Amino acid sequence: MEEASSENCNVKVAVHIRPLIGDEKLQRCRECVAVTPGKPQLHIGTRSFTFDYIYGEKGSPPASMFKDCIAPLVDGLFQGYNGTVLAYGQTGSGKTYTMGTGLREQGQTGLIPQVMTALFDKIDKLKHQAEYQLHVSFIEILKEEVKDLLDSTSLGKYDTSHAISRHVTKVTVPGKAPIQIREASNGVITLAGSTEISVSTLNDMAACLEQGLLNRATGSTNMNTESSRSHAIFTITLEQMCKLPPVNCDEINLRGDMDGDYLCAKLHLVDLAGSERAKRTGSDGLRMLEGIHINKGLLALGNVISALGDEKKRKDGVHVPYRDSKLTRLLQDSLGGNSKTVMIACISPADINAEETSNTLKYANRAR
Ligand code: ADP
Ligand code: MG
Repeated sequence: MEEASSENCNVKVAVHIRPLIGDEKLQRCRECVAVTPGKPQLHIGTRSFTFDYIYGEKGSPPASMFKDCIAPLVDGLFQGYNGTVLAYGQTGSGKTYTMGTGLREQGQTGLIPQVMTALFDKIDKLKHQAEYQLHVSFIEILKEEVKDLLDSTSLGKYDTSHAISRHVTKVTVPGKAPIQIREASNGVITLAGSTEISVSTLNDMAACLEQGLLNRATGSTNMNTESSRSHAIFTITLEQMCKLPPVNCDEINLRGDMDGDYLCAKLHLVDLAGSERAKRTGSDGLRMLEGIHINKGLLALGNVISALGDEKKRKDGVHVPYRDSKLTRLLQDSLGGNSKTVMIACISPADINAEETSNTLKYANRAR
């Protein structure tokens, strides 16, 4: 298994450069990021960086981004591998646009809707071989606290009576203990006390995403500031039970250490908090504190990913600091090991953002 684990310590980094947007055009910004034609290499100021993939087209995440970066994680789910997609970057760099974690117009074409479509297509193709069950959860981490975005009982500001309530399998009661991240003896991480919704159609799953986004928007006093300071994590869990004897299940290509004919894996789709420095977040003490908390998650994530990516460190058995934040603790069983991770560094091409863009690229570079 040694070989498999090094092959699968799979962290890929993609950069998504959005076009100049309204405000930047009004300010007559110039583009300060140049891509080497035909190479996943870019230049900013005097520095050059090479990543696994670079996308710079206008409009929604290109189909090639899904195919190169995300489809392997969807396929991995069917083989029992956990996966994580992380959108990283300063506020306004295109994380929400890229992930599809914006309401309506933005959400339609982002990566999460594409994941959903691909999942259901694949299930449709394989349903003669195996039985499938899908669950979703949707949480937000704000100031090191986990908030359940699908819990209609405690987030009652928006009318949640449609779509979701029909499918709630585990309803959390008001006044319950806060959600806790737990680790089972087999290393599996669970979110005790969070709502998990069992879905059987694409529409049901899309309704969960939308409902969580509405709860996120209405549950916060200021959507823009809070969403830029919190991590939103949409998690899809796939359970499968093979109907055929394993030898005939080659299309599914089941992993060796499966438990009988049962496999369970999850995919976390994460719209991270804005990566801008705390000093930029505001002058009042409270906001600074929030900034520091968020940095805690992003800082820990950077350390975890860089420890995982460093072959030598891993061989020396260097400690991977998962426990340093809620974010990394929650993602612990889906980063490193047998899981597949993709970080999408979102950047603005505008010269006024050059400093933050450089910081984003340096951060992403540590993951390689
Ligand atoms: P973030 O989530 O990182 O704060 P957003 O996704 O909200 O950033 O994007 C900021 C703005 O830029 C939005 O108005 C969005 O519509 C626009 N935008 C982002 N990415 C693109 C893109 N690839 N093409 C066109 N507009 C984009
Ligand atoms: Mg956003």
